[in-house]
Amino acid sequence: MAKITLDNLAHSYLPNPKSEDDFALKELNHDWVDGEAYALLGASGCGKSTLLNIISGLLHPSQGRILFNDRDVTHEPTTQRNIAQVFQFPVVYDTMTVRDNLAFPLRNRGADAAYVAERVQQIATMIGMEDMLNRKARGLTADAKQKISLGRGMVREDVNALLFDEPLTVIDPHMKWELRTQLKSLHHEFGHTMIYVTHDQTEALTFADKVVVMYDGRVVQMGTPQELFETPQHTFVGYFIGSPGMNVLDASVTGDKAVIDGTEISLGQGFGTPTGKVEVGVRPEFTTLASGDVGLPVTVKRVEDVGRHKIVRTDFKGTAINVIAEEGAEISPDMNRIVFDPAGVNVYSNSWRVAPQGA
Ligand code: ADP
Ligand code: MG
Repeated sequence: MAKITLDNLAHSYLPNPKSEDDFALKELNHDWVDGEAYALLGASGCGKSTLLNIISGLLHPSQGRILFNDRDVTHEPTTQRNIAQVFQFPVVYDTMTVRDNLAFPLRNRGADAAYVAERVQQIATMIGMEDMLNRKARGLTADAKQKISLGRGMVREDVNALLFDEPLTVIDPHMKWELRTQLKSLHHEFGHTMIYVTHDQTEALTFADKVVVMYDGRVVQMGTPQELFETPQHTFVGYFIGSPGMNVLDASVTGDKAVIDGTEISLGQGFGTPTGKVEVGVRPEFTTLASGDVGLPVTVKRVEDVGRHKIVRTDFKGTAINVIAEEGAEISPDMNRIVFDPAGVNVYSNSWRVAPQGA
C-alpha cells in the first residue's frame, strides 16, 4: 500500500496547449494518504478518469510527477505500479471460467494454488458468485461480468492502491448498495489506499472517508462529508452536494452585514470587504421560513413532503430559495420571510469561500 503524491501535475490532450482552458486536468498538488478510502466526485467530463488513468499509468501526464511512497513512478508502466483498476464496463476473459478470471491476477504473480483457491472462494462470496465459479464468462449478463471485474480488482491483497472508475454503472440498484458495502468492508479489512470515482454524491458520501470534489478539471475541495456540507470551499460544492443544494445569492458584504437585493441581513461573523463577484451561500437546512418583517421577503411556491422533512420552494424576487422544514412543520400562508441561521452562512468571492474573521 502506498501514499500517492501528485506533484505539479497537469494534463492536456492537445499537443500544444495554449491556455488553461486546453487542460483537461489543471495544475494539481495533492497527497493521497496511505490506507484511506477516497471518493473522487464530479459531473461528467470534469476530469475524473483523466486523473485516475494518470495515477494508474494508462495515461502519461503532460506535466508533473507521480510518486508512490516518495518514489517517482511517472515513467513506469501500469504493470510496475502494482495497482488494481476496475473500469465502468466489464473487462473479463470470455473463454475462461469465473474461477479462472478471478484467479488470474494471483496466478499471474505466481501465488501458490492453495492460497489462490482460498482467496478466490472468499472473493466469490463477496460478489455473490460462489455457485457460478465453473461457468464460462461468455454468456453471462453485463451485470455478472462487472461483478467478476470487481472481484478481479479486489483479489490481490498486496497492491499499492485500488482504483475504481464508476464501477457500479451497469449493476442493478439493489446490488449496487450491496457491492459498495463489500468494498467498504474490504477497505476496513485490508486498509488499501482506495480511490473510487463517481458522479453520484450518495455513493461518494457513503463510501469514502474523504471526498475529493472536482469541477472543470480542478480539485475544488477535499474533505470529510461533514466539511463538504458545512463549509463548501467553492459554490460548486455547495450546489452539487446536498438535496436540494446550497442556496447561493448575489450580495454585497461589509463586515458582518450583507445586502441581498436591497435587504440587509446579519451574518453573525465578520468577513471584511470581499471583492469581485460576492455571493452568500446558505444550505436549506440552515434556512427557516418565518412571518413578520425580518429577513428576506419571499413567496412560497410549493411544499414537497419527502418523508423525514419537507422541502419548501420559495421565490425571492425571481431567485429560488429552498428551505428544509421539519416533517410536522405547519407552513402557513402568512409566512413571507426567510431567515438564515448565522452558523450556516458562507460568503464567496469569485466562487471561492471567504474565511470568516470572527465576530
Ligand atoms: P470524467 O471522467 O470526469 O467524465 P474525463 O477525464 O473522461 O472526465 O474527461 C475530461 C475532459 O477531457 C473532457 O472534456 C473530455 O472530453 C476530455 N477527454 C477525455 N479523454 C480524452 C481523449 N482521449 N482525447 C481528448 N479529449 C479527451
Ligand atoms: Mg470518466
